[in-house]
Amino acid sequence: MDDNEINREILKELLRDDYDIKEAADGNEAYEILKRKYRKLTSILLDLVMPNCDGFQFLAKIKDNPIFFSIPVIVLTGSFDKNQEERCLELGAVDFLIKPYNPAIMKARLHNVIRMREMTASLDVIEIDEQTGLYTKQAFLHHAKILLESNPHDSYDVVISDIENFKLVNSIYGEEKGNEVIKRLADFTYEYCQNGISGRYGGDQMISIYKSPAHKAMIESKSVIQAFKNSVPVHGLVIKFGVYEHVDRKIPIAQICDRALMALKSIKHNYSRMVAKYNGPVSQHQLMAQTFETKFSEAIRNKEFVVWFQPKYDPYTEKVVGAEALVRWKTSDGMISPGDFLDVFESDGLIEQLDEYVFRLVCEHQKKWKERGREIMPISVNLSRRSLYASDVVARYKQIAADCDIEPEYVPIEITESTAIASVRIKPIADAFYEAGFHLHMDDFGSGRSSLNGLNVLHFDVVKLDKGLIDCIGDKNGDMILTYTMALGKELGLHLVAEGVENEKQLSFLKENGCDVIQGYYFSKPLPVEAFEQKVKDNLETERHCCGSKKKYALVPVAQDI
Ligand code: C2E
Ligand code: MG
Ligand code: MG
Repeated sequence: MDDNEINREILKELLRDDYDIKEAADGNEAYEILKRKYRKLTSILLDLVMPNCDGFQFLAKIKDNPIFFSIPVIVLTGSFDKNQEERCLELGAVDFLIKPYNPAIMKARLHNVIRMREMTASLDVIEIDEQTGLYTKQAFLHHAKILLESNPHDSYDVVISDIENFKLVNSIYGEEKGNEVIKRLADFTYEYCQNGISGRYGGDQMISIYKSPAHKAMIESKSVIQAFKNSVPVHGLVIKFGVYEHVDRKIPIAQICDRALMALKSIKHNYSRMVAKYNGPVSQHQLMAQTFETKFSEAIRNKEFVVWFQPKYDPYTEKVVGAEALVRWKTSDGMISPGDFLDVFESDGLIEQLDEYVFRLVCEHQKKWKERGREIMPISVNLSRRSLYASDVVARYKQIAADCDIEPEYVPIEITESTAIASVRIKPIADAFYEAGFHLHMDDFGSGRSSLNGLNVLHFDVVKLDKGLIDCIGDKNGDMILTYTMALGKELGLHLVAEGVENEKQLSFLKENGCDVIQGYYFSKPLPVEAFEQKVKDNLETERHCCGSKKKYALVPVAQDI
């Protein structure tokens, strides 16, 4: 940093073989470079007398910024002046060089200063995440704060990405491949963040802060995401993004990142959405909770909650053998999916009422079909963790089924894998459901910590293989894990239902491995009641025409002695 061009040329000539050099003619120009390149700068050579912003002013300016201040400054002077030296040292300069330079001494001093910094600046080591080469979470928060402070007039967006069901990637493909996926995601994040900063926020979550709206090019372009997926040696990878646009710089940086994270969490397990934006001054979750909670009782009164039915098929006869009841919220603004409101209801207990309401609706539909002389088939309902642990749950459900004159085996209960194996409290409840004649289906099996043996002890009749496992069909390890899981499930006397089956290839694989029942878009999406009734009717008619006899229902469990 020197206003004299010739001096700069001389320095460049001396140092260019060993270093990359950035030059500036005054303190202001240098400060701009510093803001952009501070990660790469190892040392600053500073002339004292310059127009606009001189060496002293520059030193004063960087003094309060811990990152800028950690870059060693060597002062270049024409003469030795004790007062000047004292002032510079006070302001943080580390060494002096007197013009004209002796090349050997100059190089040695510079080298020493840089080495010393590298030895003491362990900061850098803990700043960088070894596996990905990105900033660690702490370092990211720190640098993002500096970035915002040093660019007060620009608008920034924060983006967090996450791989859905990453645990599954690790268990199917092994840790090495899992690490490779993380590294690729980190590289991808870095590539698209040239004008910003990126870091590893945790496990498989990468975070970046960009000038608005630079992120759009990345996450809103399907081809970019596809290119990323193609570069990863893993099938069916689902990557999600949470975006907080035009961040509010008045709130702490950690809270800024939380908002992006909150947006991300709002679409977890929602197959249809890949990007969610934070919207609102109050936290998104709170906001949703407030409006949903106040609207809940009204919605129940107005019968806004409806059930749709997703048919389940026998893959060998291609006949409907049952269905799953899936709740939908029909509001004046349109249909809301369960993924968007169940979490809120789960956290405040309203879910118990909702689950019971859905269960009753299903029993009432069954009653209606039975009264019309139709053959009824099992329609499973989902039970949340909260509902499962509510007192008298079994007695209440048993009573509802009895009121509708429906045998409990025609309304099987789906419990998600994580709920089922998370607690020892589940055993007496599962026993009670079993004793009351209900059948238990383990939902989303393979999406978390899976244990088939646990299922056996817990009286489960059916295991539903999660869509994540089905998506891995076609991959060597994915095929292998599914084959073993299915064989073990059969050995334990469990019926196997595959969910999220979308194509022919998955169907053939599942058939070859003896899967009992298929649920998924390949055969049918969830349907409103009338469409479901029609589908069953058509199905029975074709069956009468082609097969002559009625197929035995495939979901009745085999007896188990435990
Ligand atoms: P789940 O029980 O695992 O239900 C399967 C979900 O996967 C459904 O989403 C269904 O529409 C979707 N799906 C089925 N086949 C395919 C396919 O081939 N491709 C794709 N991409 N998706 C498929 P939905 O209806 O949004 O439900 C989401 C989750 O909400 C359910 O997951 C279940 O855990 C929960 N849920 C739904 N209704 C209720 C309810 O009444 N009570 C409780 N506690 N939870 C419910
Ligand atoms: Mg389910
Ligand atoms: Mg499921």
